[in-house]
Amino acid sequence: MLLYNSATRRRDEFVPNEEGKVSMYTCGPTVYHYAHIGNLRSYIMEDVLEKYLRYVGYDVTRVMNITDVGHLTSDADTGEDKMLKGAKREKKTVLQIAEYYTNAFFEDCKKLNIKTPDVVAPATSCIDEFIKVIKSLIEKGFAYEAGGNIYFDTSKLRQYYIFNDFREEDLEVGVREGVEEDGNKKNKADFVLWFTKSKFDDQELKWDSPWGVGYPGWHIECSCISMKFLGEKLDIHCGGIDNAFPHHTNEIAQSEAFLGHKWCNYWFHVHHLNTNSGKMSKSSGEFLTVSLLESKGYNPLVYRLFCLQSHYRKSLVFSYENLDNAVIAYNKIVAKAVSLLKEDAGEVISEDFEAGKAKFCTALDNDLNTSLGVTAIYDVLKMKTTPATKLALIEDFDRVLGLDIVVAAKAQIEKEREAAEAAASDPFIQEIEALIAERAAAKKARDFARADAIRSELTDKGVTIIDTPEGTKYKID
Ligand code: AMP
Ligand code: ZN
Repeated sequence: MLLYNSATRRRDEFVPNEEGKVSMYTCGPTVYHYAHIGNLRSYIMEDVLEKYLRYVGYDVTRVMNITDVGHLTSDADTGEDKMLKGAKREKKTVLQIAEYYTNAFFEDCKKLNIKTPDVVAPATSCIDEFIKVIKSLIEKGFAYEAGGNIYFDTSKLRQYYIFNDFREEDLEVGVREGVEEDGNKKNKADFVLWFTKSKFDDQELKWDSPWGVGYPGWHIECSCISMKFLGEKLDIHCGGIDNAFPHHTNEIAQSEAFLGHKWCNYWFHVHHLNTNSGKMSKSSGEFLTVSLLESKGYNPLVYRLFCLQSHYRKSLVFSYENLDNAVIAYNKIVAKAVSLLKEDAGEVISEDFEAGKAKFCTALDNDLNTSLGVTAIYDVLKMKTTPATKLALIEDFDRVLGLDIVVAAKAQIEKEREAAEAAASDPFIQEIEALIAERAAAKKARDFARADAIRSELTDKGVTIIDTPEGTKYKID
């Protein structure tokens, strides 16, 4: 499989550290608000990556953190803790909003068929690990204390910038939004590992540490949680593209300084979901949620299809018009599956199955080309093979795509059956159908006066009849 690696800036052949096994780490949500559908684009595409790796036979262990402390309003070390901001907004405690929005996040994931990672760890549950790693970084000379905080010293590294060619001047005050001068830093790129109350007095969650009562920085949590559960060598680290700098850059700096060797081999970054006015973000307050889409009548899996129809390394513009096109595509595929289920299935023909599967794998092996993966479904529908083979292929692809196509088709058939059953036991429907049958018989016997009389009787009852080549249909007003 070829996978674009932001660290090498090319598509690399994916080879895990240990044969047959993959360790995968995902930056989890900052739980101070609902996840917006932009955040969820990242989690959908990461879910497809995980599912595809499992599909081709890897034993994947995936870990995700929950950021419930330390992520400040600027991704650099300024502003207040986003969690505190959320708690103030809702007049609740930080732990209350963390619990509420963590549950809301996983409910959204469930609706979008995003699998819960094997390990989910809130940052507040790993404080001892953070302190242990920070202590070691100080001992090794990679971190220093200033003004009560502990900073990582980026000048101690041979290479700090990994993903982009940022220069220190790019970090000048005012150049990047929200960056203020922090006089304690020895170098502009240095970042905080541990804050003490000397910096933010009203911080709600604080812990004792060798450097005083305080709380961890955002970056240290992901390094430590990954190392705690996945060991010293990580295969794939995922996140949205905005996390590449400074968050992932800082993660690499501190993890490799602590370990003394290379840490993560592949960096998988999902590009942004934008609106016409720019990146969708929680802080701007203008964002769409899964619940909002549902309240407008959209099936969340249609949003999943919308995301799969474009490549994860291209930014994607959200509009209702584009989403409506995904609705049409989704309904069309489900309708085809309904027809297949109603046909005489026949046997699964293994050569045809393998040929269909090969097309799907070629698409996904090419840097997770999900849009061609979706096209592979259309190709299956056009194949000259048995319905059983087609349905088996669609279900097989769905282990990765997660669109519930056959599930939705079966639900539709069940709904039709229930409706037919309800109609059969409804006296009014029985009366209408008896009159329609009598009208057909009258027409056949060329008794047009009787046929017309029945039509007017039905009209009086509020029933409109429509004659079609497949027979007479009716509509109750
Ligand atoms: P947060 O909850 O802000 O920590 O972000 C959770 C994840 O969503 C991170 O991986 C971000 O990089 C990602 N993300 C944030 N905004 C967007 C967006 N508009 N489109 C796609 N991913 C995003
Ligand atoms: Zn992270």
